Amino acid sequence: MDEKAVPPPHVLIFPLPLQGPVNSMLKLAELLCLADLHVTFLVTDYIYARLQRHSNIQTRFSSYPGFHIRTISDGLPENHPRGDKFLELFESLMTNTKPLFKDMLSNGSLGSRVSCIIADGILGFTCDVANQIRVPIFYVRTISAACLWVFFRLPELIQAGDLPFQGDDLDVAVKSVPGMERYLRRRDLPSFCRSADISDPIIEMYKAESTENARAYGLILNTFEDLEGPILNEMRTICPNIYTIGPLHAHLKAQLAANSTSAPPAFSNSLWEEDRTCMTWLDSQPPKSVIYVSFGSLAVMTNDQLMEFWYGLVNSGQKFLWVIRPDSISGYEIPVELSQGTRERGYIVGWAPQEEVLAHRAVGGFLTHSGWNSTLESVYEGVPMICWPYFMDQQVNSRLVEEEWKLGLDMKDTCDRSLIEKTIKNLMEVRKDEFLLRADDMAKSAKTSLTEGGSSFSNLKRLIDDIKSLSA
Ligand code: UDP
Repeated sequence: MDEKAVPPPHVLIFPLPLQGPVNSMLKLAELLCLADLHVTFLVTDYIYARLQRHSNIQTRFSSYPGFHIRTISDGLPENHPRGDKFLELFESLMTNTKPLFKDMLSNGSLGSRVSCIIADGILGFTCDVANQIRVPIFYVRTISAACLWVFFRLPELIQAGDLPFQGDDLDVAVKSVPGMERYLRRRDLPSFCRSADISDPIIEMYKAESTENARAYGLILNTFEDLEGPILNEMRTICPNIYTIGPLHAHLKAQLAANSTSAPPAFSNSLWEEDRTCMTWLDSQPPKSVIYVSFGSLAVMTNDQLMEFWYGLVNSGQKFLWVIRPDSISGYEIPVELSQGTRERGYIVGWAPQEEVLAHRAVGGFLTHSGWNSTLESVYEGVPMICWPYFMDQQVNSRLVEEEWKLGLDMKDTCDRSLIEKTIKNLMEVRKDEFLLRADDMAKSAKTSLTEGGSSFSNLKRLIDDIKSLSA
């Protein structure tokens, strides 16, 4: 057969139906489209409706004829809170979506035969289906390798007596996670570990699903080797075939720049309207003088916590740009002094173009909730961090920022105005040069990983080659 007539591999991508994983896997989808692979992106009806409402996905992908989006039911009523009741969502996916997924793959409704599946590793049932229909499967995890490694080690943590623990044991060192013994404490474990009961279904779920990851042909991670090398080495003893291809947001930008003469339309997947006036405000600020404050798309704080941050920021004497999401304060309205702000020293918006903000020359620090995307975006732009983790992997990530990478300070479990003030002064004044130097070094490593011959660049190429050879 003429080689040119061989159709490109057809990859089915199935993200966990939550905003963060969908965003990351759309970036992966686009990277595969750029390599001329055919991609079917499978989302739940619920996520599809949100994407249609808030993103320009159709326009963005219109230049890729091999890209198709398909939908599947998550089996939940429309008014179910999904992410806020994750276990219910997860159980419904297992019970209701799994048979539909199997049908979809077997009945030919996806057009050309699917040659490989790339699914979120938390969706362990996809591996059963892939095995039944004899299609290779890769898993993706959109959290840090460090947090995933802790998930892998949950049985050993329980065996070593590190789980369960009580609130007054938080500073006890954890020795049962190889590669992290030097710095890991109980308070740095994913937030659900603070449950006093090891039979808590959420612990059971993460334990079971993480061990599933080793069953896949390979594991794709949004990280890079220089950032999490020691942990990745440990993980490879269980999952030998790992593709580190991050930071994905920057990898996609780099490949687009290398591939195209005209850039596709900017991709907006924000849930809120971006307030771009903050960019003009930043333009008028001196270099590295502003601390950017944002706690991501999910974190909620009390009014008391909000006021502690307000006083801490104002008393620090630093300029600040603060994202206060309309829905981020529980049970209270934003106080007048904040909503009016003080435009000279502080600028408040409901949602910012974060990647651009972090790349702005005026930004010298990031007070963050340590979400994995925010962490990678900050690392890539060389911005030192103050961490105030909210939940899940953020507890682990913030420990790495301070103790392993020395890229900032971890304020975990404290929210006190004088500590906030002191920590900001430390990052932005007292230890400014030390942190900027470290952050600059790590940013260079991140950029190198994406250039030809770099680890993430080479791993993406290897992933594409492997998909092609598995599909041949
Ligand atoms: N983000 C943004 N504007 C904001 C705040 C956040 O665009 O004002 C983006 C940010 O760039 C990141 C994502 O929202 O890509 C937050 O993801 P992360 O994993 O950090 O946290 P999560 O929202 O999942 O808690």
